[in-house]
Amino acid sequence: MTGKVGVIGLGNMGFHMACNLLKKGSGGVVGFDVAQQALERLRAEGGTTASSPAELAEQCDTVLTMLPNNDHVRTAYLGDEGVLKTLAKGSLCIDSSTIDPIVARALADEVVSKGSTFMDAPVSGGVGGAELGTLTFMVGAKPEEFSRCEPILSLMGKSTVHCGDIGTGQVAKLCNNLVLGISMLGVSEAMNLGSRLGIDRKVLAGIMNTSTARCWSSDTYNPAPGVMEGVPSARDYENGFGSALMLKDLGLVADAAKKIGAPIPMGENAHALYQIMVAQGYGSKDFGIAFKFLGGTDSD
Ligand code: NAD
Repeated sequence: MTGKVGVIGLGNMGFHMACNLLKKGSGGVVGFDVAQQALERLRAEGGTTASSPAELAEQCDTVLTMLPNNDHVRTAYLGDEGVLKTLAKGSLCIDSSTIDPIVARALADEVVSKGSTFMDAPVSGGVGGAELGTLTFMVGAKPEEFSRCEPILSLMGKSTVHCGDIGTGQVAKLCNNLVLGISMLGVSEAMNLGSRLGIDRKVLAGIMNTSTARCWSSDTYNPAPGVMEGVPSARDYENGFGSALMLKDLGLVADAAKKIGAPIPMGENAHALYQIMVAQGYGSKDFGIAFKFLGGTDSD
């Protein structure tokens, strides 16, 4: 059993992660979110809640953040009522949000200055993986500290990979999401084209999934309604990975690539398309909404 874990950010991902910590033997979960509804949902599952990150950190020896972006994570740690106001020496802070590796490294310095440990541990596996406890954690941590995160992360995921020093978890995540953002657009284009040209979309997906087009966007998370059950495209693209979050990730990718002069022409095009999707009001819908954005229909 681990000690009490504080979870900050109880949204699509963080709520399920907190539930798995509760169910699978952590020493209790204290949650914090700016949305009251999220706090009520956690209490209904047996968790307790705090009124600020500082109040949460007072009660926990491990803090896990699962927040939308750089600024939210910085505020949670460094704000007037942030974690660092009360964090006890020797605590472990794990940030599983997808943020800029440079921000992760700067936060690590702040946490270390308080005598505690920070790791970046972004995830892949989506909301389904968060719910089932099968996430993959990509961890950036000092080699001698990495083993500290495993007992906690194993309650929420099936695999914990040490990517290298602090920040490299975020590097791995950004590279993964660069491919994911592009592959989702590619699958959406192909499913829409095939459907309009008259092939049954389930048949088309079946062919792609046993052929060279096979990828996660097609065989696990197909964006065309009617192909799969239990995925966002089967529930009007609700409760998935929001297009606004994919746009944010591709923005982080573009910033990082620009700093070192790495060419990302496909990434730039994908970034531009998600920008338009968000501008058209699809930001909170799962990023598989690309299929609808391209004119895809609810059924063949
Ligand atoms: P979400 O928008 O569903 O949830 C974020 C939660 O944080 C919300 O409940 C919101 O109220 C809360 N919040 C916002 N600002 C806050 C603050 N200052 N303090 C406390 N709570 C605050 O987002 P999500 O889908 O759960 O994603 C969280 C992170 O995980 C993001 O960085 C995202 O890129 C990453 N991620 C998401 C998925 C996915 O499939 N949804 C997959 C992998 C990684």
